[in-house]
Amino acid sequence: MTNRQRNQQNRADCRALVYFPGWANDPTGDSIVMDATESAEVGTLANRSMRMIARLLFSIMVTGAASASAQDAMAPVEVRNTWAPQVVTGSDGVVHLAYELHLLNFYGDTGVLQLRHVGVFDGTSKRSLATFEGPALEAMMSPHAPEGAKVGAALSIKSGAQATVFIWLDLPKGTTPPATLRHRLEFETAKGTTTSVDGARVYVDTSSPVVLGAPLRGGFWVATEGPGNSRSHHWGSTVVVNGQLTVPQRYAVDLIGVDAGGHAVRAGAGDLRQSKHADWIGFGADVLAVADGMGRSTHDGAVDHPPLSPQDEPASLTADGLYGNYVVLEISPHVFAHYAHLQHGSVVVKAGQHVHRGDVLGHVGQSGNSGGPHLHFQVSNAPTFEGSEGIPFVFDHFTRPGIWSVNQAIDSKAVFHATSKIGMHRKEMPLDNDVIGFSTDPRPSK
Ligand SMILES: [Zn+2]
Repeated sequence: MTNRQRNQQNRADCRALVYFPGWANDPTGDSIVMDATESAEVGTLANRSMRMIARLLFSIMVTGAASASAQDAMAPVEVRNTWAPQVVTGSDGVVHLAYELHLLNFYGDTGVLQLRHVGVFDGTSKRSLATFEGPALEAMMSPHAPEGAKVGAALSIKSGAQATVFIWLDLPKGTTPPATLRHRLEFETAKGTTTSVDGARVYVDTSSPVVLGAPLRGGFWVATEGPGNSRSHHWGSTVVVNGQLTVPQRYAVDLIGVDAGGHAVRAGAGDLRQSKHADWIGFGADVLAVADGMGRSTHDGAVDHPPLSPQDEPASLTADGLYGNYVVLEISPHVFAHYAHLQHGSVVVKAGQHVHRGDVLGHVGQSGNSGGPHLHFQVSNAPTFEGSEGIPFVFDHFTRPGIWSVNQAIDSKAVFHATSKIGMHRKEMPLDNDVIGFSTDPRPSK
C-alpha cells in the first residue's frame, strides 16, 4: 500500500465512525441510526405509539449498553487521523511515529466529555505500545488550556467541540514497526460515567524517510521547536484552509547558529533588543541544497526584521505570508524541502532552476515571521505551505555535541559544554533542542 493509499484509507475509516460510533466492535451501533430516524417521523397517533415502543426498546438497549460500561465503546466521538504517521529514527536512536488524532464530541446534547485515557496498541498483535493520562496527556492536547485554567481544562471537550491529540510514539528498539495502530480512548461524562472509543485504526507508513544532505555548513546549530515537541509552534499549528486540514510543519525545525559556548549572539552585543544582525552567529551563513532538485517556488525582496522586534500578524497562512524570503525545492516526486526567513537579497535560485546537493541557495536571515536570525527548515508533500503535510526526513550524517535550548542560547551567562565523545549520527532526524553540527563536505557518506 502506498502512502497516498494509506492516507485515503485513514480518512475513509474515520468517516465511518461519524455514523456508527463503535461500529467496528459493537453490532448494537445500529441503534443510533434508529433513533435518528425516529425523531424525523410525523407525529400521528399510530406513529406516536410506535415511537413510544421504539423509545422503550431504545432505552432498554441504552441501559443495557450503560450497564456493560466501557466494554461497549459507545462514546459519540468521531476520531479522525488525516495523515498516516511514517516511521523515522531520531537522534536518540529510537524509532518514532508522530501523528494527530482529531476528536469531535459530535452531538449537541451529549455534554462535556473529559478525556481520561489514551491507549495505543499494535493493530495486529494487540500489543500495548503506549498509554497517556493526566498531565502528560493534557500536554499533548490542542487547543491548549487558557492561562490560569484549572488542571485538566484542555482535556474537557464540550458538545459539538473539537480537540486534537498530538501523539509522539517511541517504538521499542529492535521491534518491527506495526502496520496499523488501534486506539482506546476513555472519557468521563458529565454524569460521572465512563464512555469510550475502541478502534480508531490508523495505518502506518513503514517506508524509509527521505535522506538529505546538510542544509548548512559546520556547527553548532541549535535545533529548536523541532521534532518530538508536540507543544512546538511548528507541529502544534494545524492549518485549515480551503476545506483542508493539514499539518505542514509536523517535523519543521528552526536552526539557530551558536558558537562553541552555545551563544547565539557574540560577546559584548549588550541588550539583545539593541543587537544587530552581525552580532548573531548564524546570520549570513550559507544555506545549502539538501539534495539534487529543482526550485519550485522562491521569493526575495522581503526586509530582515531587527532581532527580537515586535511583528505584525502574518498576512496569510501561505509561504508568501510567513516565510519572508524563501526557497522551496522539489527533490523527488511529492517531496519538497522548504527554507524560510532567508536574508534579503541573498536568494540565488529561481523557480524552474535545477540545483545540485550542496549548492548555495541563499543565506540565513530574519525575513518573514521570525523573531531572530535562523533557518526554518521543513519537508512536506507539496510546494505550498498551506494544504501541505509535513513528512519526516533524516540527515545523511551529522554530529550531536549536546542539548541546548533557545533560552540558554540567548543567555550570555549560560555556557554550553560539548560532550566529550562526539559520535557521528547517520540517517537520523535531529530532535527538539539538539545541538547539531554538519560536515563541511556535503557529499553523501560512504
Ligand atoms: Zn520555524
